Amino acid sequence: MAVLAFQRKQFIPSFILVSASFLLFLLPVIAIATSNNVRPLENIFVVGGTHGNEYTGVWVIKTLDRAKKQFDERYPSLKITTLLANPEAHMQNKRFVDEDLNRKFSHEALMKDLHLEDDDLPHETIRAREIDQLLGPKFAAMEDDNAAHVVVDLHSTTSNMGVTIIVAAGDPVMTRAAAYVRQKCEEAGEKVHCLLHTHESRHARPNLSSTARHGFTIEVGPVPQGVVRHDAVEKTERALYALLDYMQRYNDDVDALDRTLKSMYEKRSFRVPCFKSASASRKQEMSGRIAWPSVPENPNFPALMVHKDLQDKDFQQVRTGEPLFVNLDGDIVPYDGSYGSPIYLIVSTRVVCWTQIASSSSGTSRRSALYVSLTFSCSQQFFSLLMRGGITTRAAEQESESPSRWNLI
Ligand SMILES: [Zn+2]
Repeated sequence: MAVLAFQRKQFIPSFILVSASFLLFLLPVIAIATSNNVRPLENIFVVGGTHGNEYTGVWVIKTLDRAKKQFDERYPSLKITTLLANPEAHMQNKRFVDEDLNRKFSHEALMKDLHLEDDDLPHETIRAREIDQLLGPKFAAMEDDNAAHVVVDLHSTTSNMGVTIIVAAGDPVMTRAAAYVRQKCEEAGEKVHCLLHTHESRHARPNLSSTARHGFTIEVGPVPQGVVRHDAVEKTERALYALLDYMQRYNDDVDALDRTLKSMYEKRSFRVPCFKSASASRKQEMSGRIAWPSVPENPNFPALMVHKDLQDKDFQQVRTGEPLFVNLDGDIVPYDGSYGSPIYLIVSTRVVCWTQIASSSSGTSRRSALYVSLTFSCSQQFFSLLMRGGITTRAAEQESESPSRWNLI
């Protein structure tokens, strides 16, 4: 019988902060023709399995590979390539082997002087450099002829986020794409949230999609880790196909595309609702986060649970005094307003520990033992706090990397 040893990482329940100031405002979309200096979006990489236990994206890239001929015919200006980002973590049904691959693409991480033959290097450190060579290199003096123009990174989440599109602030080509995809999905009856991640610059962004000139992340949930769900695959594909359609139209006639975008949002006074994540307060984090305690006797077990009014209600508004948690005495812990009011939340749970085979005297296969591991989980739970706002179209700011401008298309 296989002997299993359990490796646990410390439970760190936390909030993700999106901004210290939670202002509600919507900004107008101003569509301006952008025919000058348009660089075609031709070399497209669709990536799945950046987190190895998120199966939706892996399924979708496999279907893309099988239907390559049809996609080539449908989007003739696009050269679509798929990539399984972290095959080792995927085979082990883990988010990552040693460290989060999606935090390995900042200038600091990619340019650090390393001995790559060193056996002690984290698996994802080496894999990030391989991917950077394939998609970039991100920090090449001149863009490589084979470099990706757009990386579409497909993720799933245990959060009830529905279809969420994540683009970087300061990339008007992709925020415009987000507005297009959002509208196309809505026309098909699918609600979509747009979320801007803010970093100082592409230079500082640590996520895989930053290896290309443009990055576009599609995140769909709730989906358990290590599970494929038909509905989640369909939602992801709907958003992906709308994005491919956008890129084809961008290459065909960007002025016509701008007119289409303007007409899409005309009835809403050109306002495209979206959320923005707060700046990270700690290194290695994509956005700010507030921890809440675990019980003293077990760092894996939270001392507070999320109140039922918030459970599964991501992007919901919360005001000071409204329920946030329930403690072990059954008392409701209200939001104290310390991060502004109102705030908008995403409740996230990640499985961050796993079983590991120590020995197998009866020859139990690695795969079946790993299957057993699916029954165990210790979770890392946190809130994302979001600022609600809008996105706009301004051609003059196309190449802007300004962190103060999060309202660009
Ligand atoms: Zn992910």
